Amino acid sequence: MKTLKKQLSMTILLTLLITIALIGLASNLLINWEFEKYITKTGQERRDNIADELGSQYDEFKRSWRVDYVHAIGMNSLYDGYIVKLYDADGNMVWDAENHDMRLCGQIMDEISARMKERGAKGGFVDHTYELTQNGKKTGSVSIKYYGPFFMNETDFNFIRVMNIVLLVIGVLSGICAIVVGCLLGSRISRPVTKTAYIAKQISTGNYDLKFEPGTRIKELDDLGIAINHLSDDLSEQENLRKRLTADVAHELRTPLTALGTHLEAMTEGLWEATPERLKSCHEEVKRLGTLVADLEQLAKIEGDGFRINKGPMDLFSAVQTAAENMTGEINKKKLVLGIKGEPVFVEGDKNRMGQVFSNLLSNAVKYTPEGGSIRIEVYQTKENGIVTIADTGIGIKEEELPLIFQRFYRTDRSRNRKTGGAGIGLTIVKSIVEAHGGTVEAESKEESGSCFTVSIPKSDL
Ligand code: ADP
Repeated sequence: MKTLKKQLSMTILLTLLITIALIGLASNLLINWEFEKYITKTGQERRDNIADELGSQYDEFKRSWRVDYVHAIGMNSLYDGYIVKLYDADGNMVWDAENHDMRLCGQIMDEISARMKERGAKGGFVDHTYELTQNGKKTGSVSIKYYGPFFMNETDFNFIRVMNIVLLVIGVLSGICAIVVGCLLGSRISRPVTKTAYIAKQISTGNYDLKFEPGTRIKELDDLGIAINHLSDDLSEQENLRKRLTADVAHELRTPLTALGTHLEAMTEGLWEATPERLKSCHEEVKRLGTLVADLEQLAKIEGDGFRINKGPMDLFSAVQTAAENMTGEINKKKLVLGIKGEPVFVEGDKNRMGQVFSNLLSNAVKYTPEGGSIRIEVYQTKENGIVTIADTGIGIKEEELPLIFQRFYRTDRSRNRKTGGAGIGLTIVKSIVEAHGGTVEAESKEESGSCFTVSIPKSDL
């Protein structure tokens, strides 16, 4: 299997190379084409020029040709690749390059043919005859032999060769740049992906310390990394919770079991008499164990897949009132003052589950409020929600612990030291039930002066 880096680098490289090759080829063809057009035109002009120059060498008065000049022009033209033959008006030869220097003509023609063949140009030597006149009278004719349709002299040939070399060098340099850019881009894109894959692998082995650092300047890759970080945080938290769960459950079970064990042992061995008080204390421990197990069972049920709520119209006021009535015994025992204020507020909810919510919140208020304190319940509604607040004048919760109290098994330091505390499950259950109703539960508190829990439930499902 190819690596992402290899795949990306190859794709980018290939695209760049094809682009460079196409641009190179197109510019090469275009330059050659334009150049050929240019030399074809200049060749034509040069021939016209030769004919003009030769034509002007006829002396009208002497009725003869200035042969010296004709010779000079003819030789000049020959070196440029044009083989000239000049005839007078009667068709007699005045000057012929081939007659003059057969060897030089042959040599020049061979050179031109060889050069043009090297270029792969199709063509050959052709003759073109110009009629010469002076003041409207025919003075003769000139035949110019040249390599057609165009040919290149040494300078032209060098120019085009240098041009092609320059293009080739540019192409090679661009190719090298393409390789560098391809590799750099490929690794820039693939590096964060490789890193994320490595982090994900580490997470799967239980190492949550590695973190992805955003800043790739590619949004999707940053998003991927951030998502992996969240995943890692969540898993790490779950892992911690799981570890804490085992430790907490063990701790919660050990205390009553140890007490029960020593009491019962002492009684069976006859060291202790089984008085009703002692048996009652044993019964209390068994009850604590029972409550813990019931709490755990309930939590398992709520957090399990099969958790369902049966919604129907229900009155929050009467639900919280019933919960408070069920707690009268404990409230009286602690000489707490209970105040309930409000009006019937109907919401779409599960009567039994909401009863459980209020009874958990009230039981906490009772547990964490010292004797003689007070609990105030208020029920009211806004346009969309039914709201219940349960405020107490209890021990309160530290600000930094407030966000944690709804977590499973979380108990504040203060409640851990008290015998009254439960296992830290009550508020987790409250939160799960309220959120299953699409509502919210919030806590406000001030240490030593009390806490206030606000439950808000949507009035309708919409
Ligand atoms: P517990 O069974 O221990 O009461 P909960 O989940 O109901 O567990 O509550 C979690 C923790 O939140 C408690 O241990 C306690 O420290 C704190 N808490 C809850 N309600 C109150 C309250 N009304 N006053 C003070 N502390 C509270």
